Amino acid sequence: MKVALIGVGQAGGKVTERLARFDANMGFEAVQGALAINSAKPDLQSLEFVDTQLIGADRVNGHGVGGDNELGTEIMQSDVQQVLGGLDGRVSSRSEAIFVVAGLGGGTGSGGAPVLVHHLQQVYDVPVYALGILPGRNEGALYQANAGRSLKTLAREADSTLLIDNDSWHEQGESVEGAFETINGKIAQRVGLLFASGEAVDGVGESVVDSSEVINTLRAGGISVLGYASELASEDSATNLQTVMSVSRQALLTGTSMPDATEADSALLVIAGQPDLIPRKGVEKARRWLEDETGSMQVRGGDFPLDSDRLGALVLLGGAERSDRVDEFMERAREAKHAEETERADPAEELTDDRLENLF
Ligand code: GDP
Repeated sequence: MKVALIGVGQAGGKVTERLARFDANMGFEAVQGALAINSAKPDLQSLEFVDTQLIGADRVNGHGVGGDNELGTEIMQSDVQQVLGGLDGRVSSRSEAIFVVAGLGGGTGSGGAPVLVHHLQQVYDVPVYALGILPGRNEGALYQANAGRSLKTLAREADSTLLIDNDSWHEQGESVEGAFETINGKIAQRVGLLFASGEAVDGVGESVVDSSEVINTLRAGGISVLGYASELASEDSATNLQTVMSVSRQALLTGTSMPDATEADSALLVIAGQPDLIPRKGVEKARRWLEDETGSMQVRGGDFPLDSDRLGALVLLGGAERSDRVDEFMERAREAKHAEETERADPAEELTDDRLENLF
């Protein structure tokens, strides 16, 4: 699938850069253009591999918006024409989809991404998806509250919002901040493979996935989730049959970008590896298993020929918003929003002491 990427905010820019770099290093050429947008100049200066655009300079003078996502929204609204103008040539006629990438817990990306998606939908005919990063459990209440509002609006505006929970793809015991590099690497590899899987080389066989299958899986709208797992391939085809089942199970049950999100309206299973090592029966069996497990009647499946000594399973779930995990997150965001409001009300009340007189 040929994609144009637009990162908004710090996390958005860093992840966009990793994705563009992975795609280039692998020679996939799925990423057609990549741009990072931010209201904080230093965050843009640390990016080397993507084009950058500063917004909101008249309001915040390149200093960013802190955690104020309402300001992030306002800035994007004011500067959106300039941003759209900067996309000329980056979103080409070859692009089959646009992905807007952002961390939903901050300010610029959280507030700006939904506005940008809204405007892109008016201008382009191709699907506009969001790749949203959710704050981990231990990130503060402001992050949770910001992410809740951003997610709600993104889900309304985007054709589908692919969610990555910051708690998902890092090692146990590693702090979220320390793990950003690891998480970003995994996002780049997994989402990068998804983009590239629709790009498979011509003439390798009819079982190869194409872009329309990715797009049709995401047609369910709402929230989408990506899972991945891989194991060493064997020379023995019976062993590979078991490996395909085993990596498919792991991809869905322990390897998803949102833990425990297993119910979906539609799903796509891509088995990546050397074509002669991918057992047809194994792929079909794993696809049927995925159908049972997700309760979806629309499970697509296919191969992605890749020169590797491993067999990998990539599972894309479309329409996964009914999952407990998403409900749990929205609840957390509501609680955080509520706590933030009561906290704001409290200090004044605490100082209303009848025994003291005001100065004037
Ligand atoms: P913005 O620049 O105002 O949009 O704010 P950020 O992009 O820093 O958004 C903050 C949220 O993104 C928080 O939930 C952070 O944990 C998360 N975040 C920041 N940097 C990264 C990163 O490099 N990788 C990942 N996965 N998350 C990040």
